[in-house]
Amino acid sequence: MLPIKEYVMKKKSELKDKILIMAEKPLLKIIQVNDDYASSTYVNGKIKDINEIGATVELEKLPIDISEKDLLIKIEETNKDDSVTGFIVQLPLPKGINEEKVKIAVDPKKDLDGFNPLSHFESATPKGILTYLIDQNYDFKGKNALVIGRSNIVGKPMAKLLLAQDMTVTVAHSKTPIDTLKKLVKEADLIVIAIGKSGFLNHSFEYKKSAYIIDVGINRNEENKLTGDCEKDLPVAFQSPVPGGVGLLTRLALLINLVEAKENGF
Ligand code: NDP
Repeated sequence: MLPIKEYVMKKKSELKDKILIMAEKPLLKIIQVNDDYASSTYVNGKIKDINEIGATVELEKLPIDISEKDLLIKIEETNKDDSVTGFIVQLPLPKGINEEKVKIAVDPKKDLDGFNPLSHFESATPKGILTYLIDQNYDFKGKNALVIGRSNIVGKPMAKLLLAQDMTVTVAHSKTPIDTLKKLVKEADLIVIAIGKSGFLNHSFEYKKSAYIIDVGINRNEENKLTGDCEKDLPVAFQSPVPGGVGLLTRLALLINLVEAKENGF
């Protein structure tokens, strides 16, 4: 497996080459309402990525006290704006604004986050993971996948994508008894864990030596260090690192979605 950092660099350079020969550069618009440190960090990361591949990015910051109605009007305007290839509304939104209404207001053809159920795009984290595995020639067919976590943005879409690769997929969650989970972990060829519990998969579980583990979790441990949902150095064939793993693949997937949107003439 090509390490994720190197893989992402390579893919970005491929995207840059594609954009270079496009008659018109793709334009990503970011709508940001919350101006807190975390939201601004994510937005700045996205702007940096877009600039790196030579696409265009436009950030529109809206007042934190904007009403839901006015935000929906802004989304409708952006849906109709032909200069915008695709856009995202940075989450979370301030209290009082219904995120679900906002998600379904985004035109499915421009919904690069893939949050609208009718979106033409896969949501970024599962898409980034799948693209990485496919590009590394991972042999999915007939193997056992275990997805731990069943959120709408990671667990469920991940399970769907792995099913489409002909894997035998099991989804575990907080109500899965620990003994059952231990058995499932022992039999899994591919584990994707997204639960938000630092070091949950640890050395007390038994794994297949040939297993691949994709660690989606982003947590802070007692020393305030960034950690995944797995302990380090599990006895498996491949384990994605945290930091420097799925976070990078998620950022990459947004870029892939943007270029695909332009290529498809949206
Ligand atoms: P959610 O909180 O929406 O969902 C967590 C899921 O984990 C739920 O389905 C929950 O089960 C399950 N769960 C919780 N505890 C356990 C347990 N002990 N055993 C088994 N399952 C459990 O989280 P997200 O999916 O949004 O995110 C998960 C993690 O991934 C977080 O750390 C988040 O920060 C990170 N993340 C990272 C991204 C990246 O780019 N690297 C992108 C998105 C998320 P139940 O449904 O029963 O409550």
